[in-house]
Amino acid sequence: MARRKYVVGNWKMNGLASALDEARAIFEGAAAHPSVDVALCPPFTLIGAMHAAAPDAAVGGQDCHSADAGAFTGSVAASMLADAGATLVIVGHSERRDGCGETNAEVKAKAEAALAAGLSVILCVGEPREVREAGGAIDHVLAQVRESLPDQFDRTRLAIAYEPIWAIGTGLVPTVEDVAAMHGSIRAALTERIGAGANELRLLYGGSVNGDNAAELLGAGDVDGALVGGASLTAAKFLPIVAAAATLAG
Ligand code: PEP
Repeated sequence: MARRKYVVGNWKMNGLASALDEARAIFEGAAAHPSVDVALCPPFTLIGAMHAAAPDAAVGGQDCHSADAGAFTGSVAASMLADAGATLVIVGHSERRDGCGETNAEVKAKAEAALAAGLSVILCVGEPREVREAGGAIDHVLAQVRESLPDQFDRTRLAIAYEPIWAIGTGLVPTVEDVAAMHGSIRAALTERIGAGANELRLLYGGSVNGDNAAELLGAGDVDGALVGGASLTAAKFLPIVAAAATLAG
């Protein structure tokens, strides 16, 4: 089964209500590329408004709690994201793994909660620079995949985003060969775990993707799309990435 290209924007902690016009422009522009699935993950505060502004578009959260309700001040449950109009959520982003001390076990619990709430999941993995330099990137990432992956999941509702931490927001990118080697290793680990159905899972690359490098990075073996931070904030920067994905979708 051919995997559809998938380009997801992670707005991180950016965006006020005034940014909804930009989101509308992104979704309108993306409609010209029907072979590509496009989603935006704004801050929690904009999910409802973005869904209202573009009801047919895929809008997601950037994190969720693993519990469905309770005394967790400042947290948001997966069911709350769905209630606000989200259809997906990012879990395990390195800014949460490192910045908030999230473990693989917590990421797994979040992914399971999100799937149970009916959301699709983008599960992030990636190695720090020193691990890459020491030659341990593949082992590091495969351990994250094995330990963060839910025990059971619908493979059409889970994507893995490989995001080398040293490439996020830095302008640095791995070589196409390194991306292909990592994605091939992730695919092989998934096949070991769930069999041939692993071919249905989408593997995204993330880390300093822009309109100039998207075609090359998305053209690497086993890359099915991109998770994009900085370049997802404006239509002018994001739509060329979507267009590059469309050319690869054939
Ligand atoms: C991200 O944070 O997921 C990301 C890939 O950021 P950037 O594209 O800005 O490197």
